[in-house]
Amino acid sequence: MPRKTIMALAALVLGTAFSTASQAEDIKLYVFSSGALTIGKGVLQNMAPMTPEIQVPVGFFVVKHPKGNVVFDTGNNDKIINDPSYWGEAFKALKPVNSPDIAIDAQLQKIGLKPDDIKFVVVSHLHLDHGGNVAKFPKSIIVAQKSEIQNAFWPEPGTGGPYILGDYMSLRAAAMGAPDAVKVMQLEGDMDLFGDGTVVVKRWVGHTPGSQMMTVRLKNKGLTILTGDNVYFRDNVEKNLPPNIVLAYSPSGILSAYEWIRLQMATEKADFFTAHDPDAFKAMKKAPEFYD
Ligand SMILES: [Zn+2]
Repeated sequence: MPRKTIMALAALVLGTAFSTASQAEDIKLYVFSSGALTIGKGVLQNMAPMTPEIQVPVGFFVVKHPKGNVVFDTGNNDKIINDPSYWGEAFKALKPVNSPDIAIDAQLQKIGLKPDDIKFVVVSHLHLDHGGNVAKFPKSIIVAQKSEIQNAFWPEPGTGGPYILGDYMSLRAAAMGAPDAVKVMQLEGDMDLFGDGTVVVKRWVGHTPGSQMMTVRLKNKGLTILTGDNVYFRDNVEKNLPPNIVLAYSPSGILSAYEWIRLQMATEKADFFTAHDPDAFKAMKKAPEFYD
């Protein structure tokens, strides 16, 4: 290979490495609250007691990247603040916290953002406590697995419970040009959102048919895995405890996610954040504080 070509290639490789590094320096991860739910721990962790019920947080996340802002999950639909019956009778037992400050607009405002400032809205899945507010992002691109969207609209037997059609009808409206339409990026696999390896959506069928996790590569904190509901508690990963079967579409998928997370922790010093672990959530820095 001519020397010039080698030098050009080296410059290209080094240039890429430098630009990735400089971008990682500018990436911030923020943790937000969409309130809380009340549930038996035994639903979220097999063999744990069902009573007394525990209150679990409903967390969601924002990544600020030089090329755009990313939301990971959208929490409970803000409609429950003024209309507690929005979820229907079956979900009254979840006793969602419905104070006005849980509204996604109010949460994003903590770091000076509005829904229109978000480039990508990645949903771990479309259950009521994760896909609740996708309709609030008409200027963003909603990133979801095709199999999750299909299951939300036409669930496989036994999997339909936690989906609320009204939450995500705007995904369907997109195809019809309706005023409330949102843009959708349907995935059938992984997606490196900015092409630099810093924010990667990972298809991981587990909790639901189209669950996805997301990795964020931070300069100081390192690789951080946002698990969605493939993981409920840190314990589940550390002690290999699956959830109750009612919340495990693919038990083997969930166990393989745990195994992959443990591998990243061992080899990359990775960490992981879940949406619903009360102790872990308490320990996280909340917006406007951030991880970088
Ligand atoms: Zn959840």
